[in-house]
Amino acid sequence: MENTITGLHHITAIASDAKRNVEFYTSILGLRLVKKTVNFDDPGTYHFYFGDETGEPGTLTTFFPWPDAVKGRIGTGMATSIGYSVPDGSLAFWAARFKEFNIAKQDIAERFGEKFLSLQDPDGLHLELIVPAREDKRKPWETNEVNASVAIKGFHSTTLSLKNTNSTAEILTDVFGYKLIKQEGNRYRFITEAVESAAIVDLLQSPEMPAGYIAAGTNHHVAFRVQNEQVQMAMRQKIVDRGLNPTGKINRDYFYSVYFREPGGVLFELATENPGFTVDEPLNELGTHLKLPKKFEEARAQIERVLPLI
Ligand code: ZN
Repeated sequence: MENTITGLHHITAIASDAKRNVEFYTSILGLRLVKKTVNFDDPGTYHFYFGDETGEPGTLTTFFPWPDAVKGRIGTGMATSIGYSVPDGSLAFWAARFKEFNIAKQDIAERFGEKFLSLQDPDGLHLELIVPAREDKRKPWETNEVNASVAIKGFHSTTLSLKNTNSTAEILTDVFGYKLIKQEGNRYRFITEAVESAAIVDLLQSPEMPAGYIAAGTNHHVAFRVQNEQVQMAMRQKIVDRGLNPTGKINRDYFYSVYFREPGGVLFELATENPGFTVDEPLNELGTHLKLPKKFEEARAQIERVLPLI
């Protein structure tokens, strides 16, 4: 079972204001900031990771906050929603909380027999809090205001919007080991049995929707979880065998990455479980220091000067 994709690893999105982004995901949603670093390809930009206590794959939403970012367009060829798993009975708490903080939200709805609440983060990124049909046994991060009876446990799913779902569906099933389990209207639900949570990807057949434009309030890429680099390289070979063009293995300090553009236009990543977020900070201090990759350590003073205060 391990020699395959084991659900979602992280989802990376674009924000504008860094401070507002941190406040929303930590104070309002109650996630833990598990790493504060910079974009390894652009060290003048932060890279924030929000997740559970340890930053377990399958709980990680990450952001590049670009202070001057224009607003992106949610459309095809991208992930158009992030679904978080929340406990049964928690949606009334969340609806009241979003009302209190003036967060844009819709009424509680139901899909595939699961109740959910849709909302938008301060940049307009679409999020859903979903009560999963199958009990989610993961232990959530807790705060003073968001306790375990209501707290987000990690990903439930993500939704990809596509002009045509066929070729993306083939990657999910033939390469990643997912199965199509249900369809409602233009929404096709795929699940992997390799893991119990963060196991779902929904594909939305959206031929009329304009192509997405990646900027503030949109998702940049979706990372799938692999146990280690051996599995990653085996998956990479399968992707090459399908005529796609993945990158080599890239060291992201907290995991190793391989990226490829799937045929529907979404940027996919394969990210390893190793080495994880405690590689350069102890568990109880995760996210409290600005961590830089070694190559930028010499330039720390300059980098700290250009990064916005949060
Ligand atoms: Zn990534």
